[in-house]
Amino acid sequence: METWRRVIADSITTPEELAECLDIGPGPLAPLVRRYPLRITRRYLGLIEKPGDPIWRQCVPDPLELLDDQFPDPLDEERLSPVPGLIHRYPDRAVWLVSNECAVYCRFCMRKRRVGCPLAGGGEGFWDDVLHYIKETSAIRDVILSGGDPLLLGDEHLESILAGLRAIPHVEIIRIGTRTPVTLPERITARLCRMLKRYHPLYVNTHFNHPREITPEAIKACARLADAGIPLGNQTVLLAGVNDDPAVMTHLMQQLLAIRVRPYYIHQMDLVQGTGHFRTNVETGLEIIGALRGHTSGMATPYYVIDAPGGKGKIPLLPDAVEKWGDTWLLRSFRGEIVEYRDR
Ligand code: SF4
Repeated sequence: METWRRVIADSITTPEELAECLDIGPGPLAPLVRRYPLRITRRYLGLIEKPGDPIWRQCVPDPLELLDDQFPDPLDEERLSPVPGLIHRYPDRAVWLVSNECAVYCRFCMRKRRVGCPLAGGGEGFWDDVLHYIKETSAIRDVILSGGDPLLLGDEHLESILAGLRAIPHVEIIRIGTRTPVTLPERITARLCRMLKRYHPLYVNTHFNHPREITPEAIKACARLADAGIPLGNQTVLLAGVNDDPAVMTHLMQQLLAIRVRPYYIHQMDLVQGTGHFRTNVETGLEIIGALRGHTSGMATPYYVIDAPGGKGKIPLLPDAVEKWGDTWLLRSFRGEIVEYRDR
């Protein structure tokens, strides 16, 4: 068995195991784990220094998850899905959800409704339908493999997807979104990198949320990908109690650049059911961007974006270019519509 598969097999998935590791009672964890699955690799769990710290908050279930009444699918991904597993929101880009599995089930996940569940419509016919749709839609020039985590697929499976996409002439760019460099760095093997190299132009966007996630193993994983000629970007989610602090975020962005990972987005938390305790207000994000701009390299300054509810797309926010009326932000979508947005 490959090392990374052994790490997954050895990860923590039950309330009893987690309770034992953290020296807490398993009782409150059980209903949470029945609703939203649990998985934490032992390496990631080992980054916790004390209860409630930024690593703990990201991976340990919190009873507040069950008290939150927001939307299961605020970005309307199901409506924007022409075939199962594909989201086609912007004309020239499509997101292919190739896996529902992840090395760690992040408690703040925007796809909390589906990660850890069986892949809807999985199987060969499903991949064929997606590839057929992309082939027939010549406007799609950029395909993003997402999930779950695409790198939880084995090399052969992943390669068959990449080869299928590369056989479509109008697909110019392939992107992979993965948190494995952070949560399962063992997955970034030399063999995987040799395979990925055959499918350029290929980009990887990873997902570091806190400077303590930049471990020696994560650095090595990113270096392997970068040495395979793969440009690396990072998407961070702005999370209360994790990184909602200009000093923490500045440190994270500077350290990412130092390991050849270009900060790409800071996401305002989506209005996803079960994640309200992570949401900051928009002013916090604007304060962080204000602290980054002009105080550190422009290359270390990502876009701060809100993914507008109702499938209206990502909207970048700058401190001096947004308006607030009462408790409502007025934002302009990529289609030019004015979108009203409220912190809930
Ligand atoms: S790795 Fe990504 S998709 Fe998986 S649970 Fe975390 S945020 Fe969600």
